[in-house]
Amino acid sequence: MEQCEHIEHIKAVHPNTKGCEECLKMHDSWVHLRLCMTCCHVGCCDSSKNKHATKHFHGTKHPIVRSLEPGEDWGWCFVDEVMFEEMPEV
Ligand SMILES: [Zn+2]
Ligand SMILES: [Zn+2]
Ligand SMILES: [Zn+2]
Repeated sequence: MEQCEHIEHIKAVHPNTKGCEECLKMHDSWVHLRLCMTCCHVGCCDSSKNKHATKHFHGTKHPIVRSLEPGEDWGWCFVDEVMFEEMPEV
């Protein structure tokens, strides 16, 4: 396994919202979506102008997100900057 001690933060999660939570409130748009594996927050990726997934990490310190794009199941630990090719089953 990759060098990340945050795997235990991963919970069985279902997205809170169908799109980026903050962008939906702002009636803004995003490019790709990321799901916080700690609290089910949905945020937009760093290719999106608002970068809410990264802002969510800085605000909450929730370490791990996964892609919410169809067919993608990779994850990313913001703390260790480790990419998971696929999310471990929980
Ligand atoms: Zn980690
Ligand atoms: Zn957003
Ligand atoms: Zn979170």
